[in-house]
Amino acid sequence: MSIDEFILANEVTIRLGFFFGIFAVMAAWEILAPKRALTVSKTVRWVNNLGLVFFNTFILRLVFPAAAVGMAAFASEQGWGLLNYYQVPFFVAIAVSVIAMDFIIYLQHVMVHAVPALWRLHRVHHADLDYDVTTGARFHTIEIILSMLIKFATIIVLGPPIVAVIIFEVVLNATAMFNHSNVSMPKGLDRVLRWFVVTPDMHRVHHSVEDDEANSNFGFNLPWWDRLFGTYRDQPRGGHQGMTIGIHNYRSTKQVSWLPGMLALPFIGKVNSYAINRREWSGGDE
Ligand SMILES: [Zn+2]
Ligand SMILES: [Zn+2]
Repeated sequence: MSIDEFILANEVTIRLGFFFGIFAVMAAWEILAPKRALTVSKTVRWVNNLGLVFFNTFILRLVFPAAAVGMAAFASEQGWGLLNYYQVPFFVAIAVSVIAMDFIIYLQHVMVHAVPALWRLHRVHHADLDYDVTTGARFHTIEIILSMLIKFATIIVLGPPIVAVIIFEVVLNATAMFNHSNVSMPKGLDRVLRWFVVTPDMHRVHHSVEDDEANSNFGFNLPWWDRLFGTYRDQPRGGHQGMTIGIHNYRSTKQVSWLPGMLALPFIGKVNSYAINRREWSGGDE
């Protein structure tokens, strides 16, 4: 069995294995060295945020049974995509693919903040009143489907090796859980890590209720895009303990902490043109 066949046959097992492994490590770290006190009980957070994650996983398998690795295999069979067309060394193809896919995720993240209809979906991620390992996987089902379609389009154009796609998915999932976790780490370590990966202190700024802070630090994995494109912000004005997490107008736990409220969140509030980059106005009629 080749490595590609192994990946295609065991895609779910590989991804779930890494998910649970890294989740366990980050959850233990959160218990041993938490950064902030939670405002909503951990039980409510875990049941509902993880409930959404499992619901999404189930729906995604129904809608796209072959997943991203299946699309990479298909593109390779058809000879589609730059890296299937041009001969490049295997390891170069892997590195280029992982970096390019991460760049697309950065652009997608900027886009879901800038386009009002997409912000409605993405606000489910931001409405979380706390910031912990479960926030990292908390996205509305429709945003998850949209992400998958963008990933498919990227794979068709890029033609990445199958192994690069699984590496990217596992690394992105791991870094999202890492940088959303409610852990404290020495400032010096954060400083060094920030040059290679988005750290919890770096991404927490993005979850601030303040507009300018939420419109910074869009990276999920590689920290370079924010520095390159001028969206990097070092620290929150109020400090990591003093800052408020979430969205100004969405503070009721029924709406933002319980699963039915989260699923309904994109569809409430009037549609108005002020919503562009004005997060506090997007639900201004409540
Ligand atoms: Zn965001
Ligand atoms: Zn986030």
